[in-house]
Amino acid sequence: MTVGVLALQGDVSEHHEVLRGLRVASFDVRTPADLAGVDRLIIPGGESTAISLLLQSSGLFQEIIARHIKRTLPIFGTCAGAILLAKRIEGTNTPKSLALLNITIDRNAYGTQLDSFEERISVPVLGRKLLRVSFIRAPKITATGEGVEILAMHKKVPVLVRQGSILASACHPEVQCEIRLHEYFLKI
Ligand code: GLN
Repeated sequence: MTVGVLALQGDVSEHHEVLRGLRVASFDVRTPADLAGVDRLIIPGGESTAISLLLQSSGLFQEIIARHIKRTLPIFGTCAGAILLAKRIEGTNTPKSLALLNITIDRNAYGTQLDSFEERISVPVLGRKLLRVSFIRAPKITATGEGVEILAMHKKVPVLVRQGSILASACHPEVQCEIRLHEYFLKI
């Protein structure tokens, strides 16, 4: 199995680090040719507007959608990655998203960088041990539509969701060196 980490902007190396811990080969994805060489894709956190523009100019935007339609690309988006997967983004100046995941998301709803925080959340599909995560200028999932399974909540708000082969979290497990959610993704 080869996992690609979208490496246009954001916390790319933290995901590679987690995958290295799981002994899985991982590669940077910057071009459609890079994408063709991977079985799975992680879209990291970062700045969703910047990542969206680079997705479009690199030609990856349409390629990712095409692979999704062919059902050959499970995708895991963290934070900005979740924003880029969402069908609906609330607010003004919203980035163009891939629109593959039936959720509504509010980009910076948890506040500014200074309002970032760490938390332990319960993720029943990962067992009883709580998952350590960071919320960094995190987006809030404000609604989930048909087909979306909520895998974890924080203060009654969904923070980890799955729709078929798409997994998305509003928070970051990778900056806490948690490997269990990536391990779950690799089994999808
Ligand atoms: N809220 C940021 C954005 O809109 C995402 C923050 C993150 O990925 N940690 O792009």
